[in-house]
Amino acid sequence: MTIKTDIAVIGASPAGLMAARYAALGGAKVTLFEKKEEIGKDPHPANSVFKGMMNITGEKIDSSYVVHNIKGMKLISPGGHKIKVKTQGYALDKGAFDRFYEKKALSEGVEIKTGVEVVGLNRKDSGVVLKTASGNADVTDRVKAKVVIIADGILSKNAQAVGLQTMKHPEDIAWGTELTIRAPGIGEPGYAEYFVGSLAPGWKATYLPRGEDEAAIGVYVRRHGKNVDSFLNPWIERFKELKNISDDEFEIVERKSAGDPIVAIPNQTYTDNIMVAGGAAGQSGIGYAMHAGQIAGNVGAMAIAKGDYSARTLSKYRSDWRSSLYTEHVFGRIGLETLRKMDDSEIDELFELFEDEDVSSLIKGKTVNQGLSVLTLMLQKKPSSILKAGAFFRNR
Ligand SMILES: Cc1cc2nc3c(=O)[nH]c(=O)nc-3n(C[C@H](O)[C@H](O)[C@H](O)COP(=O)(O)OP(=O)(O)OC[C@H]3O[C@@H](n4cnc5c(N)ncnc54)[C@H](O)[C@@H]3O)c2cc1C
Repeated sequence: MTIKTDIAVIGASPAGLMAARYAALGGAKVTLFEKKEEIGKDPHPANSVFKGMMNITGEKIDSSYVVHNIKGMKLISPGGHKIKVKTQGYALDKGAFDRFYEKKALSEGVEIKTGVEVVGLNRKDSGVVLKTASGNADVTDRVKAKVVIIADGILSKNAQAVGLQTMKHPEDIAWGTELTIRAPGIGEPGYAEYFVGSLAPGWKATYLPRGEDEAAIGVYVRRHGKNVDSFLNPWIERFKELKNISDDEFEIVERKSAGDPIVAIPNQTYTDNIMVAGGAAGQSGIGYAMHAGQIAGNVGAMAIAKGDYSARTLSKYRSDWRSSLYTEHVFGRIGLETLRKMDDSEIDELFELFEDEDVSSLIKGKTVNQGLSVLTLMLQKKPSSILKAGAFFRNR
């Protein structure tokens, strides 16, 4: 069977669902393909959003997917120096979050086809022909689309298939494992905690309270391969010690691993008929990916209205995205690269400078890339800490 549509979106990611919704809002006929049988089932391990980050999307937080309110985050150095950042955040039921945005896309008229994987992509005439497979690949369809928005996640096969090098520094993807854990009262506190230093080289070990007896803990590591168990296992033991949890009280309920392009920089994100958004384009963070999806959806609808799907027309996606989010990505990279090159003692010294300050004011009016752009702002703010920023230029 051959299906015809104006815009085909691949992947019900935060970027894909927003792209589909905004393209439909702009008047295009939109079909979204998701290989999972059900949106919201077995969701991506991302489990929190901060208000500053969501503000960029203009979306209001909805209680249907919030499991716990977070007052802010504590950044903790190897020696235990704490920097507190007050910023409203939310621990998510990510499945409910995905379903919430599925409903919004449906209500704008997006046709959603679940259990359908896009397995091939070819530019033909003035459009794109997609090959899809469903039900163990014994049912295949052809889809003719004028524009395709690829939002199929960090391991995107479709962006590769059309020859796009979507990120600079792919070697810097952070590989993370998140555990959902249970222990008495572990979900009650109001602050997320991010531990930095050699316990999780290149980024962080995390603790996110999720209400009552549930929390998430994880590690995110760069340049040490995809399997981060050698960092996760010591983190589990250290966490139990820090929170006084006995082995009997501690239970791991779920474990998920994935890659996060937090330090990659989006590169080739469009070509004739095609745009790439979200993790597939090196755009990390739920809010940032959603906003990129909004821009791609708007530009797609505009291209359909004009009847011009050339790279020249779609380049508006890149220019709008750059003016809105590029600086955030560059700041994020500078901050995390500096951190990766600093020794534990240097991180301690830097944190000591800010220990008793309310650094929340440093991020006023800014979106917060999981709190770690705070590090870059700290480096800028205190002249003495600029010396530490020299670590950014170290060649290692
Ligand atoms: C462990 C971990 C934790 C994270 N936690 C957070 C967090 O708490 N907050 C935050 O803001 N960011 C977080 N991130 C960042 C995260 O990467 C992004 O924010 C985002 O949620 C991930 O979306 P994505 O674009 O990678 O797509 P995904 O959510 O991975 O979605 C891609 C979708 O495409 C579908 N798909 C793939 N291929 C095809 C195909 N060929 N045909 C049809 N469908 C297809 C998949 O089934 C999937 O549903 C985290 C990242 C990692 C790795």
